[in-house]
Amino acid sequence: ARYNRDDIFRMVKEQNVQFIRLQFTDIFGVLKNVAITVNQLEKALDGELMFDGSSIDGFVRIEESDMYLRPDIDSWVTFPWHSGEGAVGRFICDVHKSDGTPFEGDPRVILQKVLAEAAEMGYTMNVGPECEFFLFQTDEKGRPTLITHDNAGYFDLTPVDLGENARRDMVINLEDMNFEIEASHHEVAPGQHEIDFKYADALTAADNIQTFKFVVRTIAQRHGLHATFMAKPIFGINGSGMHVNQSLFKNGQNAFYDPQGELELSMDAYYYIGGLMQHARGMAAVTNPTVNSYKRLVPGYEAPVYVAWSGQNRSPLIRIPAKRGVSTRVEMRNPDPSCNPYLAIAVMLKAGLDGIKNKITPPPAVNQNIYEMNQKEKDDLAINSLPGSLEEAVKELKNDAVIMYALGNHAMDRFVEAKTLEWDEYRTKVSRWEIDQYLTKF
Ligand code: GLN
Ligand code: MG
Ligand code: MG
Ligand code: MG
Repeated sequence: ARYNRDDIFRMVKEQNVQFIRLQFTDIFGVLKNVAITVNQLEKALDGELMFDGSSIDGFVRIEESDMYLRPDIDSWVTFPWHSGEGAVGRFICDVHKSDGTPFEGDPRVILQKVLAEAAEMGYTMNVGPECEFFLFQTDEKGRPTLITHDNAGYFDLTPVDLGENARRDMVINLEDMNFEIEASHHEVAPGQHEIDFKYADALTAADNIQTFKFVVRTIAQRHGLHATFMAKPIFGINGSGMHVNQSLFKNGQNAFYDPQGELELSMDAYYYIGGLMQHARGMAAVTNPTVNSYKRLVPGYEAPVYVAWSGQNRSPLIRIPAKRGVSTRVEMRNPDPSCNPYLAIAVMLKAGLDGIKNKITPPPAVNQNIYEMNQKEKDDLAINSLPGSLEEAVKELKNDAVIMYALGNHAMDRFVEAKTLEWDEYRTKVSRWEIDQYLTKF
Protein backbone atom coordinates (compact mmCIF):
# COMPACT_ATOMS: atom_id res chain seq x y z
CA ALA A 1 0.00 0.00 0.00
CA ARG A 2 1.14 3.52 -0.83
CA TYR A 3 -0.72 5.33 1.94
CA ASN A 4 -2.20 4.70 5.36
CA ARG A 5 -4.96 6.65 7.09
CA ASP A 6 -2.55 9.00 8.85
CA ASP A 7 -0.98 9.93 5.51
CA ILE A 8 -4.40 10.87 4.18
CA PHE A 9 -5.27 13.07 7.16
CA ARG A 10 -1.85 14.71 6.98
CA MET A 11 -2.14 15.42 3.23
CA VAL A 12 -5.66 16.71 3.61
CA LYS A 13 -4.41 19.19 6.20
CA GLU A 14 -1.24 20.17 4.34
CA GLN A 15 -3.07 20.81 1.12
CA ASN A 16 -6.08 22.46 2.71
CA VAL A 17 -8.51 20.01 1.14
CA GLN A 18 -12.14 21.06 1.63
CA PHE A 19 -14.00 18.63 -0.58
CA ILE A 20 -13.47 15.00 -1.37
CA ARG A 21 -15.03 13.18 -4.27
CA LEU A 22 -15.83 9.51 -3.88
CA GLN A 23 -15.72 8.07 -7.39
CA PHE A 24 -16.96 4.84 -8.90
CA THR A 25 -17.99 3.70 -12.37
CA ASP A 26 -21.36 2.42 -13.56
CA ILE A 27 -21.55 -0.59 -15.86
CA PHE A 28 -21.62 1.63 -18.97
CA GLY A 29 -18.28 3.15 -18.03
CA VAL A 30 -19.59 6.47 -16.77
CA LEU A 31 -17.64 7.91 -13.86
CA LYS A 32 -19.86 8.78 -10.87
CA ASN A 33 -19.15 11.04 -7.91
CA VAL A 34 -20.42 11.64 -4.44
CA ALA A 35 -18.89 14.81 -2.96
CA ILE A 36 -18.30 15.02 0.77
CA THR A 37 -16.68 17.60 3.03
CA VAL A 38 -13.53 16.75 4.99
CA ASN A 39 -15.69 16.37 8.12
CA GLN A 40 -16.98 13.13 6.63
CA LEU A 41 -13.52 11.77 5.87
CA GLU A 42 -13.32 9.47 8.89
CA LYS A 43 -16.67 7.95 8.07
CA ALA A 44 -15.76 7.64 4.39
CA LEU A 45 -12.52 5.79 5.17
CA ASP A 46 -14.46 3.40 7.38
CA GLY A 47 -16.61 2.62 4.35
CA GLU A 48 -19.70 3.86 6.11
CA LEU A 49 -20.89 6.31 3.50
CA MET A 50 -24.09 5.15 1.91
CA PHE A 51 -25.67 6.10 -1.38
CA ASP A 52 -28.79 5.17 -3.28
CA GLY A 53 -27.74 2.52 -5.79
CA SER A 54 -31.10 2.50 -7.53
CA SER A 55 -30.38 5.81 -9.25
CA ILE A 56 -27.19 4.47 -10.85
CA ASP A 57 -27.58 3.04 -14.34
CA GLY A 58 -27.40 -0.74 -14.30
CA PHE A 59 -26.96 -1.09 -10.55
CA VAL A 60 -29.90 -2.20 -8.39
CA ARG A 61 -33.65 -1.95 -7.95
CA ILE A 62 -35.33 0.37 -5.42
CA GLU A 63 -35.96 -2.37 -2.82
CA GLU A 64 -32.30 -3.13 -2.39
CA SER A 65 -30.89 0.30 -3.00
CA ASP A 66 -28.65 1.04 0.00
CA MET A 67 -25.04 0.66 -1.01
CA TYR A 68 -21.73 1.61 0.56
CA LEU A 69 -18.64 3.16 -0.96
CA ARG A 70 -15.34 1.66 0.18
CA PRO A 71 -12.48 4.01 -0.81
CA ASP A 72 -9.29 2.52 -2.17
CA ILE A 73 -6.91 4.52 -0.03
CA ASP A 74 -4.07 4.26 -2.57
CA SER A 75 -6.16 6.03 -5.18
CA TRP A 76 -5.95 9.29 -3.21
CA VAL A 77 -5.01 12.31 -5.29
CA THR A 78 -5.86 16.02 -5.30
CA PHE A 79 -6.96 17.85 -8.44
CA PRO A 80 -4.23 20.24 -9.56
CA TRP A 81 -6.53 22.72 -11.27
CA HIS A 82 -7.91 25.61 -9.29
CA SER A 83 -11.49 25.34 -8.11
CA GLY A 84 -12.18 28.18 -5.68
CA GLU A 85 -11.66 27.78 -1.93
CA GLY A 86 -9.38 24.97 -0.83
CA ALA A 87 -8.32 21.88 -2.72
CA VAL A 88 -10.42 18.97 -3.93
CA GLY A 89 -9.29 15.40 -3.49
CA ARG A 90 -10.70 12.10 -4.56
CA PHE A 91 -10.82 8.40 -3.83
CA ILE A 92 -11.82 5.66 -6.23
CA CYS A 93 -14.20 3.32 -4.43
CA ASP A 94 -15.48 -0.22 -4.51
CA VAL A 95 -19.22 -0.59 -4.12
CA HIS A 96 -20.42 -2.80 -1.31
CA LYS A 97 -23.91 -4.01 -0.48
CA SER A 98 -25.72 -3.18 2.75
CA ASP A 99 -24.56 -6.52 4.17
CA GLY A 100 -20.95 -5.40 3.70
CA THR A 101 -20.02 -7.76 0.88
CA PRO A 102 -18.71 -6.53 -2.49
CA PHE A 103 -21.46 -5.70 -4.99
CA GLU A 104 -21.19 -8.17 -7.89
CA GLY A 105 -22.48 -5.54 -10.35
CA ASP A 106 -19.66 -3.07 -9.65
CA PRO A 107 -17.25 -3.14 -12.63
CA ARG A 108 -14.27 -2.62 -10.34
CA VAL A 109 -15.35 -5.61 -8.26
CA ILE A 110 -15.79 -7.65 -11.46
CA LEU A 111 -12.24 -6.88 -12.58
CA GLN A 112 -10.91 -7.81 -9.13
CA LYS A 113 -12.74 -11.13 -9.36
CA VAL A 114 -10.98 -12.04 -12.62
CA LEU A 115 -7.66 -10.78 -11.24
CA ALA A 116 -8.13 -13.12 -8.27
CA GLU A 117 -8.65 -15.98 -10.69
CA ALA A 118 -5.40 -15.02 -12.44
CA ALA A 119 -3.63 -14.84 -9.08
CA GLU A 120 -4.78 -18.37 -8.28
CA MET A 121 -3.03 -19.47 -11.46
CA GLY A 122 0.07 -17.56 -10.34
CA TYR A 123 -0.32 -14.54 -12.64
CA THR A 124 -0.50 -10.80 -12.24
CA MET A 125 -1.45 -8.59 -15.18
CA ASN A 126 0.03 -5.35 -16.46
CA VAL A 127 -1.89 -3.07 -18.79
CA GLY A 128 -0.74 -0.14 -20.91
CA PRO A 129 -3.59 1.63 -22.72
CA GLU A 130 -3.31 4.09 -25.62
CA CYS A 131 -6.30 6.43 -25.51
CA GLU A 132 -7.17 8.48 -28.57
CA PHE A 133 -9.65 11.32 -28.55
CA PHE A 134 -10.91 14.31 -30.55
CA LEU A 135 -10.95 17.93 -29.54
CA PHE A 136 -13.76 20.00 -30.97
CA GLN A 137 -14.57 23.69 -30.81
CA THR A 138 -17.53 24.77 -28.75
CA ASP A 139 -20.01 27.36 -30.01
CA GLU A 140 -20.91 30.67 -28.37
CA LYS A 141 -23.29 28.86 -26.01
CA GLY A 142 -20.56 26.40 -24.98
CA ARG A 143 -22.10 23.48 -26.90
CA PRO A 144 -19.77 21.08 -28.69
CA THR A 145 -19.52 21.38 -32.48
CA LEU A 146 -17.85 19.01 -34.93
CA ILE A 147 -15.31 21.63 -35.90
CA THR A 148 -11.76 20.61 -35.05
CA HIS A 149 -9.08 23.13 -34.15
CA ASP A 150 -6.81 22.30 -37.08
CA ASN A 151 -9.29 22.50 -39.90
CA ALA A 152 -10.85 25.61 -38.47
CA GLY A 153 -9.13 27.47 -41.27
CA TYR A 154 -12.17 29.67 -41.70
CA PHE A 155 -11.71 30.72 -38.06
CA ASP A 156 -8.79 32.68 -39.34
CA LEU A 157 -8.72 35.00 -36.39
CA THR A 158 -7.61 32.19 -34.07
CA PRO A 159 -3.91 32.97 -33.71
CA VAL A 160 -2.93 29.95 -31.59
CA ASP A 161 -3.52 26.29 -31.95
CA LEU A 162 -6.06 25.69 -29.19
CA GLY A 163 -5.69 21.93 -29.40
CA GLU A 164 -1.92 21.90 -28.92
CA ASN A 165 -2.13 24.21 -25.93
CA ALA A 166 -4.91 22.17 -24.39
CA ARG A 167 -2.98 18.95 -24.87
CA ARG A 168 0.10 20.41 -23.20
CA ASP A 169 -2.04 21.54 -20.28
CA MET A 170 -3.57 18.05 -20.04
CA VAL A 171 -0.12 16.49 -19.82
CA ILE A 172 0.96 18.94 -17.10
CA ASN A 173 -2.15 18.28 -15.03
CA LEU A 174 -1.87 14.51 -15.46
CA GLU A 175 1.76 14.61 -14.33
CA ASP A 176 0.69 16.59 -11.26
CA MET A 177 -1.66 13.69 -10.54
CA ASN A 178 1.20 11.15 -10.59
CA PHE A 179 0.72 10.01 -14.18
CA GLU A 180 3.92 9.20 -16.01
CA ILE A 181 3.28 10.41 -19.55
CA GLU A 182 5.30 8.46 -22.10
CA ALA A 183 4.15 10.11 -25.29
CA SER A 184 1.63 12.62 -26.45
CA HIS A 185 1.05 13.33 -30.08
CA HIS A 186 -1.33 14.51 -32.68
CA GLU A 187 -3.11 11.53 -34.26
CA VAL A 188 -3.78 10.91 -37.94
CA ALA A 189 -7.12 12.71 -38.16
CA PRO A 190 -7.53 16.46 -37.82
CA GLY A 191 -8.34 17.36 -34.22
CA GLN A 192 -7.34 13.90 -33.02
CA HIS A 193 -4.86 13.33 -30.22
CA GLU A 194 -3.28 10.54 -28.23
CA ILE A 195 -1.69 10.72 -24.81
CA ASP A 196 0.03 7.56 -23.57
CA PHE A 197 0.73 6.98 -19.93
CA LYS A 198 2.89 4.32 -18.33
CA TYR A 199 1.52 0.81 -17.90
CA ALA A 200 0.44 -0.33 -14.45
CA ASP A 201 -1.13 -3.34 -12.77
CA ALA A 202 -4.51 -4.00 -14.36
CA LEU A 203 -6.69 -2.46 -11.64
CA THR A 204 -4.62 0.72 -11.41
CA ALA A 205 -4.60 0.93 -15.21
CA ALA A 206 -8.40 0.81 -15.33
CA ASP A 207 -8.59 3.47 -12.60
CA ASN A 208 -6.08 5.54 -14.56
CA ILE A 209 -8.15 5.35 -17.75
CA GLN A 210 -11.17 6.72 -15.90
CA THR A 211 -9.12 9.49 -14.31
CA PHE A 212 -7.46 10.23 -17.64
CA LYS A 213 -10.78 10.72 -19.45
CA PHE A 214 -12.06 12.93 -16.65
CA VAL A 215 -8.91 15.11 -16.68
CA VAL A 216 -8.86 15.39 -20.48
CA ARG A 217 -12.50 16.48 -20.56
CA THR A 218 -12.04 18.93 -17.71
CA ILE A 219 -8.96 20.60 -19.19
CA ALA A 220 -10.49 20.70 -22.68
CA GLN A 221 -13.45 22.54 -21.24
CA ARG A 222 -11.14 25.04 -19.58
CA HIS A 223 -9.73 25.76 -23.04
CA GLY A 224 -13.15 26.22 -24.57
CA LEU A 225 -12.91 22.83 -26.31
CA HIS A 226 -14.88 19.63 -26.06
CA ALA A 227 -12.99 16.34 -25.74
CA THR A 228 -14.82 13.25 -26.94
CA PHE A 229 -13.94 9.58 -26.50
CA MET A 230 -16.70 8.38 -28.81
CA ALA A 231 -15.30 5.89 -31.31
CA LYS A 232 -16.08 7.50 -34.65
CA PRO A 233 -17.28 11.09 -34.47
CA ILE A 234 -16.66 11.86 -38.16
CA PHE A 235 -17.21 9.70 -41.22
CA GLY A 236 -14.33 9.46 -43.67
CA ILE A 237 -11.43 9.93 -41.25
CA ASN A 238 -9.90 7.72 -38.54
CA GLY A 239 -11.90 7.00 -35.43
CA SER A 240 -10.53 6.79 -31.90
CA GLY A 241 -9.22 3.51 -30.56
CA MET A 242 -7.90 2.43 -27.22
CA HIS A 243 -5.20 -0.13 -27.92
CA VAL A 244 -4.64 -2.24 -24.83
CA ASN A 245 -1.11 -3.58 -24.28
CA GLN A 246 -1.25 -6.50 -21.89
CA SER A 247 1.19 -8.88 -20.26
CA LEU A 248 1.17 -11.49 -17.53
CA PHE A 249 3.84 -11.91 -14.90
CA LYS A 250 4.64 -15.06 -12.94
CA ASN A 251 7.17 -15.15 -10.09
CA GLY A 252 8.33 -11.68 -11.04
CA GLN A 253 9.09 -12.70 -14.64
CA ASN A 254 7.30 -11.70 -17.81
CA ALA A 255 5.35 -14.87 -18.59
CA PHE A 256 5.04 -13.96 -22.30
CA TYR A 257 8.81 -13.92 -22.86
CA ASP A 258 10.78 -16.99 -23.79
CA PRO A 259 14.13 -16.38 -25.52
CA GLN A 260 13.94 -19.93 -26.94
CA GLY A 261 10.35 -19.63 -28.16
CA GLU A 262 9.18 -18.85 -31.68
CA LEU A 263 9.42 -15.05 -32.07
CA GLU A 264 10.82 -15.20 -28.50
CA LEU A 265 7.31 -15.71 -27.20
CA SER A 266 6.35 -18.26 -24.55
CA MET A 267 3.61 -20.87 -24.88
CA ASP A 268 1.64 -18.81 -22.34
CA ALA A 269 1.81 -15.90 -24.78
CA TYR A 270 0.56 -18.06 -27.66
CA TYR A 271 -2.29 -19.52 -25.62
CA TYR A 272 -3.20 -16.06 -24.34
CA ILE A 273 -3.39 -14.84 -27.95
CA GLY A 274 -5.43 -17.96 -28.77
CA GLY A 275 -7.89 -17.09 -26.00
CA LEU A 276 -8.19 -13.46 -27.08
CA MET A 277 -8.90 -14.55 -30.65
CA GLN A 278 -11.38 -17.24 -29.67
CA HIS A 279 -13.38 -14.77 -27.60
CA ALA A 280 -12.83 -11.61 -29.66
CA ARG A 281 -16.34 -11.76 -31.12
CA GLY A 282 -17.92 -12.61 -27.76
CA MET A 283 -16.13 -9.73 -26.02
CA ALA A 284 -16.80 -7.12 -28.69
CA ALA A 285 -19.99 -5.85 -27.02
CA VAL A 286 -17.81 -4.98 -24.02
CA THR A 287 -14.69 -3.70 -25.77
CA ASN A 288 -16.75 -1.87 -28.43
CA PRO A 289 -19.97 -1.12 -26.61
CA THR A 290 -21.87 1.46 -28.65
CA VAL A 291 -23.76 1.61 -31.94
CA ASN A 292 -21.09 4.03 -33.08
CA SER A 293 -18.18 1.70 -32.12
CA TYR A 294 -18.90 -0.43 -35.20
CA LYS A 295 -18.57 2.54 -37.56
CA ARG A 296 -14.91 2.60 -36.55
CA LEU A 297 -14.28 -1.10 -37.24
CA VAL A 298 -14.33 -0.74 -41.03
CA PRO A 299 -11.53 -1.07 -43.60
CA GLY A 300 -9.32 1.88 -44.39
CA TYR A 301 -8.90 3.68 -41.07
CA GLU A 302 -6.22 1.72 -39.17
CA ALA A 303 -8.85 -0.02 -37.04
CA PRO A 304 -9.10 -3.81 -37.04
CA VAL A 305 -11.86 -5.61 -38.89
CA TYR A 306 -10.61 -9.21 -38.93
CA VAL A 307 -9.74 -11.60 -36.12
CA ALA A 308 -6.08 -12.22 -36.85
CA TRP A 309 -2.73 -11.63 -35.24
CA SER A 310 0.66 -10.63 -36.52
CA GLY A 311 4.17 -10.21 -35.23
CA GLN A 312 4.61 -7.45 -37.77
CA ASN A 313 3.41 -3.93 -37.89
CA ARG A 314 0.19 -4.18 -39.93
CA SER A 315 -3.28 -3.43 -38.70
CA PRO A 316 -4.45 -6.77 -37.35
CA LEU A 317 -6.62 -7.26 -34.27
CA ILE A 318 -3.62 -8.42 -32.26
CA ARG A 319 -0.11 -7.17 -32.75
CA ILE A 320 3.05 -8.12 -30.89
CA PRO A 321 5.13 -4.96 -30.35
CA ALA A 322 8.84 -5.53 -31.01
CA LYS A 323 10.06 -5.16 -27.41
CA ARG A 324 11.03 -8.38 -25.62
CA GLY A 325 12.26 -9.26 -22.13
CA VAL A 326 10.22 -7.60 -19.35
CA SER A 327 8.40 -5.49 -21.97
CA THR A 328 7.05 -8.46 -23.95
CA ARG A 329 3.35 -7.82 -24.50
CA VAL A 330 0.33 -8.40 -26.63
CA GLU A 331 -1.50 -5.39 -28.08
CA MET A 332 -5.24 -5.77 -28.61
CA ARG A 333 -6.35 -3.10 -31.06
CA ASN A 334 -10.11 -3.22 -31.30
CA PRO A 335 -11.19 -1.71 -27.95
CA ASP A 336 -12.29 1.90 -28.19
CA PRO A 337 -12.24 4.51 -25.43
CA SER A 338 -16.03 4.49 -25.00
CA CYS A 339 -15.72 1.09 -23.32
CA ASN A 340 -15.86 0.52 -19.59
CA PRO A 341 -12.15 -0.10 -18.89
CA TYR A 342 -12.81 -2.32 -15.87
CA LEU A 343 -15.10 -4.62 -17.83
CA ALA A 344 -12.99 -4.53 -20.98
CA ILE A 345 -9.82 -5.51 -19.12
CA ALA A 346 -11.75 -8.12 -17.12
CA VAL A 347 -13.06 -9.87 -20.25
CA MET A 348 -9.75 -9.71 -22.11
CA LEU A 349 -7.93 -11.22 -19.13
CA LYS A 350 -10.63 -13.85 -18.78
CA ALA A 351 -10.30 -14.73 -22.47
CA GLY A 352 -6.52 -14.97 -22.21
CA LEU A 353 -6.69 -17.14 -19.09
CA ASP A 354 -9.18 -19.39 -20.86
CA GLY A 355 -6.63 -19.72 -23.65
CA ILE A 356 -3.92 -20.71 -21.15
CA LYS A 357 -6.16 -23.13 -19.23
CA ASN A 358 -7.39 -24.89 -22.35
CA LYS A 359 -4.16 -24.55 -24.32
CA ILE A 360 -5.90 -22.77 -27.18
CA THR A 361 -3.31 -22.57 -29.96
CA PRO A 362 -3.83 -19.49 -32.11
CA PRO A 363 -4.01 -19.88 -35.90
CA PRO A 364 -0.76 -18.99 -37.71
CA ALA A 365 0.16 -15.31 -37.83
CA VAL A 366 -1.17 -13.50 -40.88
CA ASN A 367 1.43 -11.18 -42.35
CA GLN A 368 -0.20 -10.48 -45.70
CA ASN A 369 -2.71 -7.68 -46.13
CA ILE A 370 -6.09 -9.23 -45.27
CA TYR A 371 -7.92 -6.36 -46.93
CA GLU A 372 -6.54 -7.50 -50.29
CA MET A 373 -7.65 -11.14 -49.87
CA ASN A 374 -10.78 -12.49 -51.46
CA GLN A 375 -13.33 -14.48 -49.47
CA LYS A 376 -11.83 -17.83 -50.42
CA GLU A 377 -8.37 -16.82 -49.27
CA LYS A 378 -9.84 -15.64 -45.99
CA ASP A 379 -11.86 -18.83 -45.59
CA ASP A 380 -8.78 -20.96 -46.25
CA LEU A 381 -6.97 -19.20 -43.43
CA ALA A 382 -10.12 -19.33 -41.23
CA ILE A 383 -10.07 -15.55 -40.85
CA ASN A 384 -13.23 -14.37 -39.15
CA SER A 385 -14.50 -10.79 -38.91
CA LEU A 386 -15.28 -8.86 -35.78
CA PRO A 387 -19.03 -8.23 -35.35
CA GLY A 388 -20.32 -5.65 -37.81
CA SER A 389 -22.86 -4.07 -35.48
CA LEU A 390 -23.82 -3.78 -31.84
CA GLU A 391 -26.71 -6.13 -32.54
CA GLU A 392 -24.36 -8.85 -33.80
CA ALA A 393 -21.98 -8.23 -30.90
CA VAL A 394 -24.72 -8.67 -28.30
CA LYS A 395 -25.73 -11.94 -29.98
CA GLU A 396 -22.13 -13.14 -29.83
CA LEU A 397 -21.86 -12.14 -26.18
CA LYS A 398 -24.93 -14.20 -25.34
CA ASN A 399 -23.23 -17.19 -26.98
CA ASP A 400 -19.97 -16.89 -25.10
CA ALA A 401 -20.29 -18.62 -21.72
CA VAL A 402 -16.73 -17.75 -20.66
CA ILE A 403 -17.25 -14.02 -21.14
CA MET A 404 -20.73 -14.13 -19.59
CA TYR A 405 -19.25 -15.83 -16.55
CA ALA A 406 -16.58 -13.13 -16.24
CA LEU A 407 -19.25 -10.42 -16.17
CA GLY A 408 -21.46 -12.32 -13.75
CA ASN A 409 -25.24 -12.59 -13.92
CA HIS A 410 -25.96 -9.18 -12.53
CA ALA A 411 -23.88 -7.07 -14.90
CA MET A 412 -24.53 -9.43 -17.81
CA ASP A 413 -28.33 -9.06 -17.56
CA ARG A 414 -28.27 -5.29 -17.17
CA PHE A 415 -25.72 -4.89 -19.93
CA VAL A 416 -27.55 -7.02 -22.48
CA GLU A 417 -30.88 -5.41 -21.64
CA ALA A 418 -29.47 -1.90 -22.09
CA LYS A 419 -27.51 -2.68 -25.26
CA THR A 420 -30.51 -4.39 -26.85
CA LEU A 421 -32.55 -1.29 -26.15
CA GLU A 422 -29.81 0.95 -27.51
CA TRP A 423 -29.72 -1.02 -30.74
CA ASP A 424 -33.49 -1.00 -31.04
CA GLU A 425 -33.65 2.73 -30.59
CA TYR A 426 -31.01 3.23 -33.25
CA ARG A 427 -32.49 0.85 -35.79
CA THR A 428 -35.92 2.49 -35.68
CA LYS A 429 -34.59 6.02 -36.23
CA VAL A 430 -34.60 7.46 -39.74
CA SER A 431 -31.13 8.77 -40.55
CA ARG A 432 -29.88 11.54 -42.80
CA TRP A 433 -28.32 8.90 -45.06
CA GLU A 434 -31.73 7.33 -45.78
CA ILE A 435 -33.28 10.68 -46.61
CA ASP A 436 -30.41 11.50 -48.97
CA GLN A 437 -30.69 8.09 -50.65
CA TYR A 438 -34.43 7.63 -50.95
CA LEU A 439 -36.43 10.81 -50.57
CA THR A 440 -36.15 11.89 -54.19
CA LYS A 441 -35.49 8.47 -55.70
CA PHE A 442 -38.84 6.95 -54.72
N1 GLN B 1 -7.07 5.57 -34.78
C1 GLN B 1 -6.76 4.20 -35.08
C2 GLN B 1 -7.84 3.27 -34.51
O1 GLN B 1 -8.95 3.54 -34.70
C3 GLN B 1 -5.40 3.80 -34.58
C4 GLN B 1 -4.29 4.59 -35.18
C5 GLN B 1 -2.95 4.24 -34.60
O2 GLN B 1 -2.71 4.48 -33.43
N2 GLN B 1 -2.10 3.65 -35.35
O3 GLN B 1 -7.58 2.27 -33.87
MG1 MG C 1 -0.24 4.59 -30.05
MG1 MG D 1 -2.76 5.84 -31.95
MG1 MG E 1 -0.81 1.05 -30.50
